[in-house]
Amino acid sequence: MSFEQVLNKKAFINGEWVDAKSGNTFAVTNPATGDIVANIADCNADDAQSAVAAAKAAFRPWANKTAKERCQIMRNWFDIVMTHDEELAALLSTEQGKPFAEALGEIRYGAAYIEWFAEEARRTYGDIVPSHKADARILVMKQPVGVVAAITPWNFPNAMIARKAAPALAAGCPIVIKPAEDTPLSALALAQMAKEAGVPDGVINIVPTSTAQVVGDVLTTHNDVAKVSFTGSTDVGRIIMRNGAQTIKKLSLELGGNAPFIVFDDADIDRAVEGAVASKYRNSGQTCVCANRLYVQAGIYDEFVTKFSEKVAELKVGGAFDHDVVLGPLINKKAVAKVEELVGDALEKGASATIGGRGSDKGELFYEPTILRDVSRDARVLREEIFGPVAPVIKFDDEADAIALANDSEFGLAGYFFSNDLGRVWRVAEAIECGIVGVNEGVTSAVEAPFGGIKQSGLGREGSRYGLDDYLELKYVLMGGL
Ligand code: ADP
Repeated sequence: MSFEQVLNKKAFINGEWVDAKSGNTFAVTNPATGDIVANIADCNADDAQSAVAAAKAAFRPWANKTAKERCQIMRNWFDIVMTHDEELAALLSTEQGKPFAEALGEIRYGAAYIEWFAEEARRTYGDIVPSHKADARILVMKQPVGVVAAITPWNFPNAMIARKAAPALAAGCPIVIKPAEDTPLSALALAQMAKEAGVPDGVINIVPTSTAQVVGDVLTTHNDVAKVSFTGSTDVGRIIMRNGAQTIKKLSLELGGNAPFIVFDDADIDRAVEGAVASKYRNSGQTCVCANRLYVQAGIYDEFVTKFSEKVAELKVGGAFDHDVVLGPLINKKAVAKVEELVGDALEKGASATIGGRGSDKGELFYEPTILRDVSRDARVLREEIFGPVAPVIKFDDEADAIALANDSEFGLAGYFFSNDLGRVWRVAEAIECGIVGVNEGVTSAVEAPFGGIKQSGLGREGSRYGLDDYLELKYVLMGGL
């Protein structure tokens, strides 16, 4: 599948394709082969300044369009993305490594946010509130926050951008996007399609860079940026929050997770195994909602581990365009080193690998799907986000034990549990400290549902009818003397 049609190498600022002011470029490589895919404009602080200026100039005209006009343009954008879904997926697989079928799923999932928020644009209703004075009326209106800066990760190079740009545009906000250095190409392709769809100049700007901090500092401290929407690690989230403090930025932060996945002994074990495979090995384990720690009740522990290992043995590792491949490479050497370190620590502390536990012969960045049993409760793999195809399985005794283990984390993004006991389902769903809970389901993401975490997993929600609120301000107007 060719992607030449959607491959762009320049930055996108004020509706134009431009070189970085420095003239510098950086290489984007294919993680499956190590080959250079393209050399891309390497933006610095000056380019970021230009992008913010363009967005600022575009703000009023875009916000002043009717909701229906914005909706129509976004609808065009959605249609164009869907028309080119296969080229976009091929580009995504090439820069990121995920299997083509999974990349195609991501493109359609990302597009669904554009479609959803195009529709939601027309429903930003305000309120008329019963007044405290007979001769006055209280109005509450919703207005766009202003220029938005988005900083996005490499694990979903398309969808994480769509999920931010779509609500921003729907609300009437222009956006400046700094994509991850490993995967800027999907972002640029989305901009190409936005331009074709009629998104006005300056409403979407993309500043790829190899120096995240330099561009990030401009975007997170600039007076003319009202809001920063970030998806990435909790550590960088803290930097962004600190940077934003000076100008009291509005923040949406989708940070790390450490998802517990609990299987109670009354669960449908085959369904739990299926859920575990889907939750753990999607994107080779590189999602912030991937099951990170599997807790299985003592009575069914051995049966679960055996069935889970059998299923995982069927998962094929390989290049994105190879037939039937389910697991692609990890994103870079650092990611592989982290996985090796965590697995090494668990094995040293007494765990054993029922399957995998080592790199794959497919290439330097490939890692075998792995299951670790009898993992000690002090293993690092239970505390840290693995971001790789490794499933530590731990035994627990009773419901209270499971809830305590699940909640013993500073993170609170996704959590999953499997049970067929109605009372238990209610109890655990309420007790688990996560923003997203899958009950008898291993994959929860949907544009209709609010995505986001509690505790140190973040602030705000993306998608759903709540997702637009993060890009809107409430304005109270008291109309007196009536
Ligand atoms: P990961 O560990 O998944 O790569 P990061 O949090 O490092 O997650 O990266 C997420 C995004 O944050 C990327 O776009 C990256 O370039 C960006 N980033 C990294 N460091 C900074 C920083 N100091 N300021 C702003 N953005 C940053």
